[in-house]
Amino acid sequence: MGDGPFGALTGPVRPDPRARDHPGFTKADFTPDWDARTLTCPRGVTSRPRKPTLGDGHERLSVMFPSAACRAGEDRVECTGNADGRGRHIILLPEPPQEIRTRVRREQDTRERQEHYAIRAGCEATVSETGHAHGLRHCRCHGNAKTHVQHILTAAGTNIIRLSGCHPPGTTPPRQPRPATRFRQLCQALTT
Ligand code: SF4
Repeated sequence: MGDGPFGALTGPVRPDPRARDHPGFTKADFTPDWDARTLTCPRGVTSRPRKPTLGDGHERLSVMFPSAACRAGEDRVECTGNADGRGRHIILLPEPPQEIRTRVRREQDTRERQEHYAIRAGCEATVSETGHAHGLRHCRCHGNAKTHVQHILTAAGTNIIRLSGCHPPGTTPPRQPRPATRFRQLCQALTT
């Protein structure tokens, strides 16, 4: 999703959830001036200075556009999504995560980004096996160094389990009989 100390972390972000309610313009269409603490809309109107607020207990920025300016615009209903004459209200994340989110939203619909992300196909299932089947989410020791060793050993063990299921090219693995279901076990127990 962003550039971290170990290189780019690639991941999707959810589409702007308010875009459906504001079909005129999404957040990405507004230009922030982080120093002046304002946004400028596609019609060239500048908001009032943002105010800090909370969303789900996390730091957010509340940006209001002047009602009079919005009422004078022909896009008001499509842009604000309300019919009572209020100006557009936008909630932003703090600057660094908001900038990353906006950039990824712009990029993730491009063919180049989708081809890049396709490399990750299958990664999530591979990684989730270590978490769900081999307890990787729970550290058995304290400290980063020991936790790192646990991760390495878990990954190595997962690879060994997978390798044990491989067979030489050109050969057919012996088919394992499917274990009997609980219902079948009950039927067998009642008829023997
Ligand atoms: S409704 Fe307000 S914020 Fe939206 S485009 Fe018009 S002037 Fe800009």
